[in-house]
Amino acid sequence: MDKLSNEVQYIKGVGPERAKLLAKLGVNTVADLLYYFPRTWVDRTNIKKIKDVKLGEKETIRAVVLAKQTRQVSARLKITSVMLQDDSGGINCIWYNQPYMEKIFKKGDTVICHGKIEVYRNFLQMPNPEYEIISGGEDNINVNRIVPVYPLTEKLYQKSLRKIMKFALDNYLQYLDEYLPLPLRSRNSLIDVKKAVLNAHFPENFDALTCAKKRLIFDEFFFLQLAFAIRKKNIKEKKGIVFDTAPETYIRFESAIPFKLTGAQKRVIEEIKNDFISGKPMNRLVQGDVGSGKTVVAFMAAAIAVGNKCQAAFMAPTEILAQQHARNAETLFANTGIRHGFLTSDIKKQKKDEILEKLKSGEIDILIGTHALIQQDVEFKNLGLVVIDEQHRFGVLQRAELFKKGSIPHMLIMSATPIPRTLSMTVYGDADISIIDEMPAGRKPIKTVLFTDNEMEKLFSFIEARLKEGAQVYAVYPLVQESEKIDLKSAMEMEKHWAKRFSNFRTAIMHGQMKKDYRDTVMSDFKSKKIDILVATTVIEVGIDVANATVMVIEHAERFGLSQLHQLRGRVGRGEIQSYCILIGDPKTEGGMKRLNVMASTQDGFKIAEEDLALRGPGEIMGVRQHGVPEFKIANILTDRDIMEISRQAAFDIVSGELKINIEEKTILMNMIKIKFGNDFDLVNIG
Ligand code: ADP
Ligand code: MG
Repeated sequence: MDKLSNEVQYIKGVGPERAKLLAKLGVNTVADLLYYFPRTWVDRTNIKKIKDVKLGEKETIRAVVLAKQTRQVSARLKITSVMLQDDSGGINCIWYNQPYMEKIFKKGDTVICHGKIEVYRNFLQMPNPEYEIISGGEDNINVNRIVPVYPLTEKLYQKSLRKIMKFALDNYLQYLDEYLPLPLRSRNSLIDVKKAVLNAHFPENFDALTCAKKRLIFDEFFFLQLAFAIRKKNIKEKKGIVFDTAPETYIRFESAIPFKLTGAQKRVIEEIKNDFISGKPMNRLVQGDVGSGKTVVAFMAAAIAVGNKCQAAFMAPTEILAQQHARNAETLFANTGIRHGFLTSDIKKQKKDEILEKLKSGEIDILIGTHALIQQDVEFKNLGLVVIDEQHRFGVLQRAELFKKGSIPHMLIMSATPIPRTLSMTVYGDADISIIDEMPAGRKPIKTVLFTDNEMEKLFSFIEARLKEGAQVYAVYPLVQESEKIDLKSAMEMEKHWAKRFSNFRTAIMHGQMKKDYRDTVMSDFKSKKIDILVATTVIEVGIDVANATVMVIEHAERFGLSQLHQLRGRVGRGEIQSYCILIGDPKTEGGMKRLNVMASTQDGFKIAEEDLALRGPGEIMGVRQHGVPEFKIANILTDRDIMEISRQAAFDIVSGELKINIEEKTILMNMIKIKFGNDFDLVNIG
């Protein structure tokens, strides 16, 4: 193994300059290099003579550059052609409006080209081929085989990287020892690691490539899942506080809830109750779309904790949300005997001291607040449950801080960012997951309509009608102020516009550059209907609940990501009146158009998240980046779901002992995890 941690610069053909380029690609050691996989592979086993190519087919040829030229065909069209010849005939490779292509080829170069065969004026041509200049004659790396195509960086070329890789494989692969236990490999039909790495770079054939990919994708998922499985086991090995799940306080609270719980809410509270009686600490993520009613579920869990003489902490990411929860607590906990407190960093010292005192003495049962809750001077008497709302706003460390304020409290995390299962398995792999996938009864689906810029008057008269019915309106803009750099409408500029157009109504503005106090005032004015039209930026994104706001207008909608649009739309549709989401946009890109169409076609947060994942990749899904989704080199969480499932199963089976491996094999696996994740995972007490 040691030779593999050699610095890559000492490999033949690398040297200090190329080593710097490789470092840019994250390749520092020989091992990094062997695990630097191609982006794709091209089949050069089937190189045709020019006389044998078929019209209309995609073919690969090898030939020599005979001549080249660029012609101005019309005012707007330049055609560059490079004439190639082999011993059987000639063909023109052509490019439209890419005159620089001419410089790439030199007379006498041997090139391989791959592309569709056409004929023009009785002469064969290949438009926009994939090409590679392979001068230097025959070799066994670049031709007559399936050839790897690597992601590169400036000044690093395919051919040099292939050569370096080939050398590394020939000389170092022998030191790569198998790290997966045999029972695991045979159960999942995985080939051995040497063969896999070799075939991932220079596959013998496409079947061998498939097997190699499967094995290496499995590896990437597997170690992450193994780390999760161990962490989960560590959590579950701790002793959790056992709660009676039907104490009087809870029964009183439950019977006072002013609405009928949805089936999904009931199911989730049952799942939470099962955790409470399990004797193990709960570590549960509740995912539910905006408006699905997560708060009441969390309050029910809190009522159980309180009924068991424990305290609960309820942490929200913003002042406004914390206040909203406190107000909800006011109504829902009235006459239940549950005493709640409210703490944010704004609270005056005297008041704060009083709250802290009561918390310490146990006169406050539930403390609701912002991250002020994790300040050092906050001490609980007996913290038994931690609830974290809109979790993606908090870092893992902040979660841990709150956790430490109790002696192994139960942990309930709530997220309104629905993420697809494959993604949640890579982000929350150690948590149990509950899903609230049902909206409270009586909600009308939100009507989502797409508008373009030149239909504004039509839109305004529609909005006027809604305002006259007493509805409130949100209007969201991507910018706070006008910018010289981008030509977009801004909230500040448009607020004037709205105020003028709707002078009979009250308009206000809210954005992130305003003082928090002021923003809070605006929000509560909107909530109490002192404001009809709220012009804002995305600060209104999370959790705000104003049932009377039924129109959401989003301008430049194409500038927002799908998940973000979905979150914004979730601000309306919270009452029984028909709600509207109006997306105004002029999507110039295919992606932009697609996003708006997805928005118009579904309201299901999970579907939208799937689409978002497909369109933008995992890193872009809202909130996900903050959790640190691991970057996969060869695995793709979208297309490799099946392998993800089996790798997760395998990891959990090893940790549970279902799949038996010996001590040596176990040690090897643990070392791999340490190498891969270092201290990212808190993996104490590994058995
Ligand atoms: P979110 O899941 O987005 O946090 P909330 O918990 O804020 O949603 O709930 C949104 C609104 O729906 C609140 O006004 C809440 O009181 C109400 N609500 C929750 N559950 C139900 C239900 N089962 N029936 C009717 N209204 C409900
Ligand atoms: Mg909420």
